[in-house]
Amino acid sequence: MIKKYYLLSPGPTPVPDNVLSAAAEPIIHHRTPEFSDIFMKVSEGLKYVFETEQDVFVLTSSGTGAMETAVANILCPGDKVININGGKFGERWGKICRAYGVDVREIVLEWGDPFTKEQLAEELKANPETKAVFATLSETSSGTIYDIQGYGEVLTESDAILVVDGISGLGATPCPMDEWNVDIMVAGSQKSFMIPPGLAYISFSLKAWNLVEKSTLPKFYFDAKQYRKNLKKSTTPYTPAISLIIQQKNALDIIKNLGLEKLFEHHRILGDATRDGVKALGLKLLSKRPGNILTAVKVPEGIDGLKLVKTMQGKYRAYIAGGQDPYKGKIFRIAHLGYMGGFDIIIALTALEMTLSELGFDFERGSSIKAAETILKENWE
Ligand SMILES: *Cc1c(COP(=O)(O)O)cnc(C)c1O
Repeated sequence: MIKKYYLLSPGPTPVPDNVLSAAAEPIIHHRTPEFSDIFMKVSEGLKYVFETEQDVFVLTSSGTGAMETAVANILCPGDKVININGGKFGERWGKICRAYGVDVREIVLEWGDPFTKEQLAEELKANPETKAVFATLSETSSGTIYDIQGYGEVLTESDAILVVDGISGLGATPCPMDEWNVDIMVAGSQKSFMIPPGLAYISFSLKAWNLVEKSTLPKFYFDAKQYRKNLKKSTTPYTPAISLIIQQKNALDIIKNLGLEKLFEHHRILGDATRDGVKALGLKLLSKRPGNILTAVKVPEGIDGLKLVKTMQGKYRAYIAGGQDPYKGKIFRIAHLGYMGGFDIIIALTALEMTLSELGFDFERGSSIKAAETILKENWE
């Protein structure tokens, strides 16, 4: 049999054909009106997805580069911050801050557990010198969505700013930056933005720019002021990833044509279909506040979780993701993110059923497909 490759991971995600082929076009020079025209269209499109009036800067790095940019541009050595750490990516905010000599009050949550705005308000009361709160919109290691809107409400009453890792969530689940009082939002190209890995995006509120003016942490390549100065001239400070930016223009056209609301609804339908599918097999979700980006599923008792992922990927070439760190072998993650369609969920569930039956798990064959199909059929338009 021809073994087709199915990318079903929460980053990188599949890329539409006309976006892929744009990378094969001859390279144009970046200090030209032709490039600036494309670049400014991308800049406008990013503002649409971020739902902000502020500039959105394009960095040539993976998402973590934008996280580092946030930290290095707003803080000074010894500054106090709060980090809401709900998993692998929340943990990363703390690691970056500590690498820069920032004093981190780390709130370590059980993976999949929520953190309320009331809890944040208490933390701030106990730590009045806090300069910034770091949070994650969609914690990709556990499939959990956090209450960014609530955190934004709490922080409007405070001098501290709200810094959000929207790398997997932005563009797939609602998080309007300006309306929800997010001060720094970061995103990455290979998640919901429908292009390959290699670009990261970041935007600062006026409240955040005030901190940028006072920040003394070292920075050079990721100095936000350089990006701001050059964006005024419709360009980037250093050589941009020209082909990726052209790809992003095409992908943003797809996103804008569909519209954000429909895009969120699309992810909601795929999320519902996946959740209903795995529940029909008698499986349980890891998250108590699951999002529509990906579904993290607990490996059932008696089943070897590492073998499950290995079989899905190696034998069926269905590239779901395994668990990370403490959840390695204990969960698996099916993404419904970016350029995926309804039938991608059916593929994931079919490969899952074939794998589970091979590993000796007892369930009703076809039940997950039936459940997912019901959701897809009800919502198809
Ligand atoms: C993927 C991801 C990152 C890391 O991004 P890289 O592009 O691998 O640097 C950070 N945070 C979240 C929530 C992610 O999903």
